Amino acid sequence: MTKEEAVELLARAPFLELGKMALLRKRELHPDRVTTFVIDRNINYTNICHIGCKFCAFHASVNSPRAYILPYEAIDRKIEELIAIGGTQILFQGGVHPNLAIDYYENLVAHIHEKFPAIDIHGFSAVEIAYIAQISQISTREVLSRLLDRGMRSMPGAGAEILSDRVRAIVSPNKVSAADWLRIHGEAHSLGMTTSATMVFGLGETNEEIAMHFDLLRRQQAESGGFTAFIIWSYQPDNTPLAKLRPDLTHQSANRYLRLLALSRLYLDNIKNIQASWVTQGRYIGQLSLKFGANDLGSTMMEENVVAATGCSNSMATDEMIYLIKSSGEIPMQRNTKYERLKGF
Ligand code: SF4
Repeated sequence: MTKEEAVELLARAPFLELGKMALLRKRELHPDRVTTFVIDRNINYTNICHIGCKFCAFHASVNSPRAYILPYEAIDRKIEELIAIGGTQILFQGGVHPNLAIDYYENLVAHIHEKFPAIDIHGFSAVEIAYIAQISQISTREVLSRLLDRGMRSMPGAGAEILSDRVRAIVSPNKVSAADWLRIHGEAHSLGMTTSATMVFGLGETNEEIAMHFDLLRRQQAESGGFTAFIIWSYQPDNTPLAKLRPDLTHQSANRYLRLLALSRLYLDNIKNIQASWVTQGRYIGQLSLKFGANDLGSTMMEENVVAATGCSNSMATDEMIYLIKSSGEIPMQRNTKYERLKGF
């Protein structure tokens, strides 16, 4: 599919036809009707961040009364609770702390990996990696390599938002550029890490910029091949600075979400897993996503703080996850970070 065809489909394809095409494509890639999910917990080791994205309601400044850095004991306790419910992954991210350098992160990752070797550390983001490199005066590749040595095997795709420097200049001017986001993921892949690819829509982007985003990801995957999955979610305006600056950017419709999801399944023909975002769309649109190309319902999210800061409710019992998948006619299976299947239900 070309970018021009993607724009055309996004603007004009009948809703249900687009969904049907995405479902057919999903069935070609995943003929056994299995929908996967992961049992994980988001651990935000700090909320201190100096990047100042305008769509973010989570970050705090160093001197804010809300500011925190979790001590090792608190992190350990959270992981023990996760293991007790059969969890396998921590999504481990912070804000971008202005004063923490590579040795802090190396020690942190080593501590977790040595104490909990069975837990996958799905850690940090291209934005954190770029800043750790800057403050430590080393390359991003060296940051990734040193964290890999300590036990971090995968990195989430956070910080991609829309891979258009026009949009980024408006909503997150201090974040890595689109080219740097792609470069850092390519470096991670070349070192043997897996990463996920993401997109946040509803930030004032055009359909052409969405098609460009898909195209950049498809090219990067063709080159470095380490994206395990693609995940879309929508901008959540509540409690964010952007809501005051751009009141015209409101909650995105389920229709728009499902169209984009279906299109991503069709365009990203070299990314096998498309993950539904029930956290921002609600659990029933999440479930409906399985008919619009998604083959993974994400995570049960024992704890999540970043989207929760905008007022979204977001944790789901494993039983409910299984129910949502089964009642849409699919077979639920727990997976790990690499999308290897662990257990069927
Ligand atoms: S989205 Fe991330 S990088 Fe941006 S301000 Fe929030 S915590 Fe910081």
